[in-house]
Amino acid sequence: MRILVISDIHANLAAFETVLKDAEGDWDYVWCLGDVVGYGPDPNECCDLLKTLPHLCLAGNHDWAALDRLDSRTFNADARRAVSWTQDTLTAENTAFLQALPTTFVLGKYTLAHASPREPIWEYILDPLIAALNFPHFETQYCFVGHTHTPIIFRLLDDRGDTEAIQPVYREPQHLNGQRLILNPGSVGQPRDSNKDASYGILHVQEAIFEYRRVPYPIKTTQDKMRRFDMPERLITRLEHGW
Ligand code: ZN
Repeated sequence: MRILVISDIHANLAAFETVLKDAEGDWDYVWCLGDVVGYGPDPNECCDLLKTLPHLCLAGNHDWAALDRLDSRTFNADARRAVSWTQDTLTAENTAFLQALPTTFVLGKYTLAHASPREPIWEYILDPLIAALNFPHFETQYCFVGHTHTPIIFRLLDDRGDTEAIQPVYREPQHLNGQRLILNPGSVGQPRDSNKDASYGILHVQEAIFEYRRVPYPIKTTQDKMRRFDMPERLITRLEHGW
């Protein structure tokens, strides 16, 4: 079984479609780690496309914000504007789709969470210290998270909880065997690691082999739509810089 592991599509249809085309034929099932909507111009189109694929999808903080499950004062002004635009734009059917998403999932050797196993909606695992605090919060060998929009691996080194960060190597399948890892596939629709290309991964479940991938997508297509919808300029320009 091969899994297309994606996260943080953020209503960016051009990025989502490009990832699907790039990964065509390489996967049997999709794990989507949340934040399907928020920031971007295509919330319904991204939900509709995801629903056509065999998939499991988690809820992210932006999905919850679109459902009014979060206090939007915790978002900055630009994100807040995008939240209310998303709320106004989502169809009743796609609102119901987001409402039904779970916050965590465990499948065999893998735990899935949007943000972290300790705080599935909120916590940002940005460094080895925060990663170390999260290893006791899942029982499987591996955990996949999104939320930071930064592709990275955290590896537990010893029983004391020491943890290291490993930068991904792209297009090189990697054996995960024998280690406890927290893996982040990066973001499809709003990468923040100074690389504007869409980020995703392919997991071979039984073999525990994971391959990181990046692929350029037509950013201008998404930006043009955002301008037509009068979305905040800062959210439009950040896509071309990858932050
Ligand atoms: Zn996100």
